[in-house]
Amino acid sequence: MRLAEKQILVTGAASGLGAAMARRFVAEGAAVVIADIAVEDGEALAAELGPRARFARLDVTREAGWQEVLAGCQRLDVLVNNAGITTLGSVEDITLDQFRHEFDVDVVGVFLGCKYVIPLMKERGGSLINIASMCGVRAQPDLFAYNAAKAAVIHMTRSVALHCASRRYGIRCNAILPGMIETPIQEKVLSQSGNRDAVYAAWVAGHPIGRLGRPEEIAAMAVYLASDEAAFTTGAEFRVDGGSSL
Ligand code: NAD
Repeated sequence: MRLAEKQILVTGAASGLGAAMARRFVAEGAAVVIADIAVEDGEALAAELGPRARFARLDVTREAGWQEVLAGCQRLDVLVNNAGITTLGSVEDITLDQFRHEFDVDVVGVFLGCKYVIPLMKERGGSLINIASMCGVRAQPDLFAYNAAKAAVIHMTRSVALHCASRRYGIRCNAILPGMIETPIQEKVLSQSGNRDAVYAAWVAGHPIGRLGRPEEIAAMAVYLASDEAAFTTGAEFRVDGGSSL
């Protein structure tokens, strides 16, 4: 019960990494708000996790949405800015609208989360956890917007950490940089690739440890950063990527 009594909000928690974090947080004694645009999946997960979980509809790109959801939280000890999308395409291929949408969800969403949760946390202190990616440090030709967005998340994390430290809020802000993790979204890409085995083998080859990651392995790092064990840790990025960013 490393997170007993903690109140935690996880964005994008209806699926993938967010759902794994919500599950583990509840198992560690926390109360969790599953915040997502995917109502059906979010409500189903909240029902599965029992009385210490509830679903809240939140589009992280909408300022008013954040204000409404946070008005329903008496207190918050941990925010995980996890909601994210992956736009495929090179600098030549993608449109301005696609680029803006990627930044809206992955960058503006993190900005709004930090901006509106800090006032709620600063009396008691807390932990902000931003889910970036190893793509924020290692560029790929066909992930132009995603590379840029996740690099922004890493640097925003440092700036927020310094701001909160300088004001002595007791709020820590850290980033997790996952490598490729086996989630439904990766499975979808594989099944659409037309060459499942070769694509999967190439993904694995990019991970020196010899396999892709599991959602629970990201959740384990999030538990540490959410807990008081990480009280001296801020402004840091934690690569949980099987060595793929090396
Ligand atoms: P996923 O698609 O399974 O889950 C993302 C969730 O975010 C979904 O439930 C979706 O409904 C929600 N979402 C999307 N737009 C939203 C919005 N505007 N407001 C609120 N919720 C929204 O993806 P995942 O693989 O679990 O990824 C979670 C995070 O981890 C993302 O930020 C992603 O970039 C990052 N990440 C994932 C991997 C990986 O291999 N899966 C690797 C590195 C980083």
